[in-house]
Amino acid sequence: MRILLVEDEKKVARFIKKGLAENNYVVDIAPDGEEGLFLAETELYDAIILDLMLPKINGLDILKRIRKQGKNVPVICLTAKGKIEEKIEGFNAGSDDYLVKPFRFAELLARLRAILKRSKNVPASTNLKYADLSLNQLTRQAERNGHAITLTSKEYSILEYLMLNAEQIITRTMITESAWDYSFDIMSNVIDVHIKRLREKIDGNEKIKLIHTMRGMGYVLKKDFK
Ligand code: CA
Repeated sequence: MRILLVEDEKKVARFIKKGLAENNYVVDIAPDGEEGLFLAETELYDAIILDLMLPKINGLDILKRIRKQGKNVPVICLTAKGKIEEKIEGFNAGSDDYLVKPFRFAELLARLRAILKRSKNVPASTNLKYADLSLNQLTRQAERNGHAITLTSKEYSILEYLMLNAEQIITRTMITESAWDYSFDIMSNVIDVHIKRLREKIDGNEKIKLIHTMRGMGYVLKKDFK
């Protein structure tokens, strides 16, 4: 899951990014409204955490502009002020949730999970299944044919993406956008290395292979691959 965090206070931004990274989210930080709007318009995110008081362009204006463009990405607004008028304005502008600073990280995480669950990208179930492979989105453990498989954070992100899009061709760009932040160099072979390791873990001891390479296109998760 890839998150955009628009926050000008460095300490707060670092604190949120660290916590989210520990929970296997990939986070891009925008330190002002201009960069926040640019990233929200040009990159794909599963959710946006948006501070309202920002240099250059304020959070509510960013929210209004991305909603006007028809983007329905879930947004949590952050603000130092808990004023009711601002809350109402935020919800009118298309915010999904609201958090007043200072807040505990656990609360942000709970709200983030809730809006991700409500958004169309994440199924209500926390256990993804495909053929005899299952992936628990809470414990981040995979299981195939009764054997538990431990995944690294990147392997988890890639496998989750493959399972959410099973039997569809997944390009390297799509994997990059779902599992890396925007500074990632797409020309590198890092994705192939992670896929190779993931494949060893998932398919290494199995007769029926699930992860396949589509030459010149990308990858596919498919049980009856021909
Ligand atoms: Ca601020």
